[in-house]
This record gives sequence, structure tokens and C-alpha cells, in this order.
Amino acid sequence: MSKTSTHSLRGKKILITAGPTWEMIDPVRFLSNRSSGLMGFEIAKAAARAGAKVTLVTGPTTIRYPVPNGGAVPLGTGYLTVVRVVSALEMYRECLKRFPKMDIAIMTAAVSDYRPVKIEKHKLKKKMDAKSRPSMTMTLKLVCNPDILATLGRRRSEKQYLVGFALESRRLLAYANTKLRRKGCDMIVANAVPALGASHNTATFLFRDGHIVSLPSMTKIQLAKKIIQTIAKGSHNAIIP
Ligand code: C5P
Repeated sequence: MSKTSTHSLRGKKILITAGPTWEMIDPVRFLSNRSSGLMGFEIAKAAARAGAKVTLVTGPTTIRYPVPNGGAVPLGTGYLTVVRVVSALEMYRECLKRFPKMDIAIMTAAVSDYRPVKIEKHKLKKKMDAKSRPSMTMTLKLVCNPDILATLGRRRSEKQYLVGFALESRRLLAYANTKLRRKGCDMIVANAVPALGASHNTATFLFRDGHIVSLPSMTKIQLAKKIIQTIAKGSHNAIIP
């Protein structure tokens, strides 16, 4: 018997975000990042196999999973519902709506920090100067997106268990520790930039009580199982009265 089933999540309701978001500039172009969504999908599958009722809110990814949008399908002893969104604002709305009923939330999505102030109705044309030469620069005005994890951190009850991710190109653990506290999480999974779009990941878990667990490099499937085992143990006291 695997450790995942030993520390079962049977019947627990889990909200997971995955993938990048697309912030449309015009009907053709968008701002985004290199996130593949793989980590979030693997965590969602591992959680459902451990018996949870999982809702995965995912940004655009190339991962094909045979689940109709918004419909729950059985997986292992649990269920998986996939809700597909495009932008950070859509992801924010879907998460806020569902969060009050959740026992656990795991935010793996690489949400765009900013979006264009305005989505152009028509494809932007190259800007020309007074002499009909292409302008060498152009400015795009951006506005800050809401922070989904921080919002859930403010609205959570002590019974809910909240997990965030941190991905940084420098001072990873220091930034991860700040995020853990600032966003009201119980646990942060810290990983470095090479994790983006890759099949493997080297992660460190940071917990609210100050303890830290560093893991060796492993596949995202293996890491997803470790995360679910750890959450099943860690969230147990928070959830069971
Ligand atoms: O601040 P930073 O983006 O590095 O924080 C990463 C964590 O916050 C991740 O868990 C990510 O899913 C979450 N996040 C979010 N909404 C945002 C930005 C980040 O949920 N707008």
C-alpha cells in the first residue's frame, strides 16, 4: 500500500490551480510565461487517487485530459473536475467562488502579475513615425492582476489548509519564506527556474511552524505524490475537528 493511501484524502474537497494565464493584448497576441501546467495536473491526479474531490482550475496548456470542461470524472477513489480559464481575472473569479466549500487549496499556477489595461478589439498595427518609418519603441500600459493565493489567505478559516508555490531565479528560500507569511499559507513549495516546462523538479517544502524539508531531484509525478502525502499528513489536524 502506498503512503498516499495510508494518509488518505478521502472525501476532502481540494481546489488546485495550474498552468500559465494568458493576458490578451489584442485578438491575436497575449502576455504569458513558460509554465506547462504539468505540476498542477499531476498534483490534481495524485489528490484524486488519494480519494479527494478535486477541482482543477487551469490556464491554457497543451495537456490533454479527457474531462469535459466543468464535469467531474472518477479517478482512483476520488473525482477530478477540470475548469479551463484563460486570464488571471477568470482564474481569480473561479477560485473565489469555489474556495468557501474547500478543505484544501493548492495554488501551482504561474499567474501573470500584470495584464494590459485595455484589450484592443482589432490586431494592433505597427506604429509609424511622422516619416512613415516603423517606430523603434512602443509602450504597453499594464495593470496589476489580483493575487489569488493572497486573497484566499485573507479569507481562509483555520480549518482550511493553504499551499502556495514559489519559483525564483535568485534568493529562492528567502522569497519563499516571505511569501509563506505574507500570503497566509500553511506550506510553500519552493522551486527554481529550471522546473519551468521540465519533467523533473528539485523542491523544498517550507511550513508555517518554521520547519523545512529539502527534496532531491525527481519527476513531477513523484513530487506530486510527495506533496499530496505531506498535505494529507499536515492538513489532518486542521481538517478533522
Ligand atoms: O508572488 P508569486 O507570484 O511569486 O507567488 C507565487 C504563488 O502565488 C503561487 O502559489 C501562485 O500560484 C500564487 N499566485 C496567485 N495569484 C497571483 C500571483 C501568484 O495565486 N496573481
